[in-house]
Amino acid sequence: MREKEKNPVAVTRSSLPPLEEYVEMLKPLWESAWLTNMGDYHEQLREQLKAYLKAENLELFVNGHMALELALQALELDGEVITTPFSFASTTHAIVRNGLTPVFCDISPIDYTLDADLLESHITERTCAIVPVHVYGNLCDVEKIQKIADRYGLKVIYDAAHAFGETLDGRGVAEFGDVSMFSFHATKVFHSIEGGAAAYREPALGHRLYQLKNFGIMDSETVEYVGANGKMNEFQAAMGLCNLRHLEQEIKKREKLAQRYRERLQDVAGIRLCPKNSRVCSNYAYMPVVFDGYKRDRDQVFEELAKNDIHARKYFYPCINSYTCYRGQFDEQDTPVAARIARQVLTLPLYADLEPEVVDRICDIILE
Ligand SMILES: *Cc1c(COP(=O)(O)O)cnc(C)c1O
Repeated sequence: MREKEKNPVAVTRSSLPPLEEYVEMLKPLWESAWLTNMGDYHEQLREQLKAYLKAENLELFVNGHMALELALQALELDGEVITTPFSFASTTHAIVRNGLTPVFCDISPIDYTLDADLLESHITERTCAIVPVHVYGNLCDVEKIQKIADRYGLKVIYDAAHAFGETLDGRGVAEFGDVSMFSFHATKVFHSIEGGAAAYREPALGHRLYQLKNFGIMDSETVEYVGANGKMNEFQAAMGLCNLRHLEQEIKKREKLAQRYRERLQDVAGIRLCPKNSRVCSNYAYMPVVFDGYKRDRDQVFEELAKNDIHARKYFYPCINSYTCYRGQFDEQDTPVAARIARQVLTLPLYADLEPEVVDRICDIILE
């Protein structure tokens, strides 16, 4: 048996700036005692992210989920929302928690994003919006989706939690759709411990987003909306500002590791990797690998890695339309590609400080 890892390897590990850098950022907070409610760091981060994401309009939130949930509320939607079952719980929960009805469209067997060719067949008189996901940072077919949305007068809200900073032909992902939600959770490529943002096209939406994250309060005597508490605090914003300084380096490290995985795994029969899209500048957020006709199935590879204290993740498994909380409402077999990929996919460890030798060891275990 192979020698056990000295330290367990998780699927991801949060990036942290040098401690002194963060501590330095905290000093002004002790002086001003302004800890949350849109302070200086909140505004600085918002401005820097607008530039980084090439977003004309952007609001910060306490996390990505609140950004998505409140963006859907701000758009004042009613009826059915077409989305993908191959995502994190947040995507569908945000729809359902707004009193909207999710309608699941199957995914592309190539890049696992919502299959735009199937989109139209799900549109009914009650359809009001589409919520596609740039899953693993693979960008959706934004052009085709927009064309269909325009034809039927539908809003498009991207779950861009995985696509931070990515570009398509040099255009920032935030430029597509009516709203794009980004997550700055500790496990994401860029993080503010917890955090998130909604980039949006229509400037008028900004007022509503701002109010909705602050209980719908207009002024001291007027409460205009049934809002929530979705505000990002100053400690989060400070972490975001620190991490943004190191982000390019982190992405370069991820790229090297992803390339190393690719070299080892790309030409193996029964193993499929996402194809590279030459139009996209990637952030190398995830390393999803699909085992389809390989000598061992996904669960066997998962177990073998776990025995070696390497913890890959069945991400995304199960599909959202087979969750216990949605039991009896949907049929996973209506989205057969998503159902199959969910059983075959394994997301391998990938983070900036992962040692290249560990990537080699992971590949050895998979291939042996
Ligand atoms: C992380 C994530 C979210 C939620 O973001 P949080 O910041 O954790 O609330 C939503 N959708 C997807 C696809 C995600 O990966």
